[in-house]
Amino acid sequence: MAGEQPYWNPEMETLPRPQLRQLQEARLLAHVPYVYQHSALVRDVWDAAGVHPSHIRSLDDFTAKVPTIDKDMVRVFRERTGDAFGGMHCRPADEICDIHSSSGTTGAPTFLPINRRDIDVFAESFARHYWCAGLRPGHTLSLSLGLYLRPLQALYTAAHRIGAHVALTDWLDIPRLLHTFRYIQPDIHIFLTPPQAFGLRDEMASEGMDPKVLFDPVKAFIWAGDAITPKTRRLVTEEWASVVHDMSGTADLSYVMMECQAHDGLHAHDDLWFLEVVEPGTTTPVAPGERGEFLYTAMMDSSLGFVRWRSEDVGYIATEPCICGRTSTRLYFLGRVGYRVTVRDQMIFPVEIQHVLELFPEFDHGIFQIIRDAGNMDTLKLRLGFRPQDEPALETLRTQLEQHLGDKLGLPIAIHFVPTEDLLVLGPPHKIPRIHEVAAA
Ligand SMILES: [Zn+2]
Repeated sequence: MAGEQPYWNPEMETLPRPQLRQLQEARLLAHVPYVYQHSALVRDVWDAAGVHPSHIRSLDDFTAKVPTIDKDMVRVFRERTGDAFGGMHCRPADEICDIHSSSGTTGAPTFLPINRRDIDVFAESFARHYWCAGLRPGHTLSLSLGLYLRPLQALYTAAHRIGAHVALTDWLDIPRLLHTFRYIQPDIHIFLTPPQAFGLRDEMASEGMDPKVLFDPVKAFIWAGDAITPKTRRLVTEEWASVVHDMSGTADLSYVMMECQAHDGLHAHDDLWFLEVVEPGTTTPVAPGERGEFLYTAMMDSSLGFVRWRSEDVGYIATEPCICGRTSTRLYFLGRVGYRVTVRDQMIFPVEIQHVLELFPEFDHGIFQIIRDAGNMDTLKLRLGFRPQDEPALETLRTQLEQHLGDKLGLPIAIHFVPTEDLLVLGPPHKIPRIHEVAAA
């Protein structure tokens, strides 16, 4: 549409970074005494570290002095006190709208309350993402979700705010989804997950449906779940002839970021959440472009005291303005802290290997493991599954793969081929433990 506003919130989405930093500082300085006063866990942790809100007078004080909070602290507090929210809840119980629980992939789920004010903050964030994906007044958003998302209400409130309506489905009910695409013809679909994408592909094939026809009215799919890979991106852009925006975030804060049309990193909303990148397990900052753990502070979250929260996600950021005109930080996720190996002082993540393997039809099944036999290794060693029909070509493939991976990662590579069945006994393809631990010799 000629002259159409490309941003939902032009002021915040294009705020020059010096002003963004001033806004962050003002919001952080207001938030610090609030969480200290209202979150019992934050108060415990800060008291133990000898930090008081009166010590925090600038953004630099905040990053230099405020202690980090992690999931284990919440669990320990919950077990010690019986407080369901682990000392994180900042508001009276009668203000709570909903209580959600985190997915608990790395332990017991955490309970996450939300109130009306915070639903509005999340709705603002999602409205920016939806608008960026192309949702407009009068459109239909296909919202396919699970019930344990903290910003559940915000997901459809955001669409209503734009003036769109919502067709609800659930994540893995593939026949219902296909029916929705066929008759409702949504403009945007959110939460295309890896199992849903491949479930849709298989169901359409078995029904003899042409995805390019079925998905013709869909302007964009918003991808979530595991990080999108070149192979899954091609499924949407080539086989379905549509557009896909990668969306990711942090399960505990339920804060998400999304790619714009440039597909160059995921845009954060720096006016709502404050992001830092540090050496994993420390508070030592790393520069934009360097790999580190993401720490988040939910500056506008009145319910939960997420202050310098250790996400355990590693990646890097870009802070220069994007070609879309947005000035927000862009994030590039690499993986969980526990899934990294170190080779010649360089952090390496399974997704980086996956991206190279997908260039080879013989290995695009993604059945592989990284062998970890030392804290800091000299060579990146892989166990890579092969199918019987590819056995005669393995030595040629080894040379090509080692060269490709070596060029991309700048490291010596050693590949050990094993029959795919030997790795598949460890779990379904996307659940095979990516790190194979071997005791040091
Ligand atoms: Zn952009």
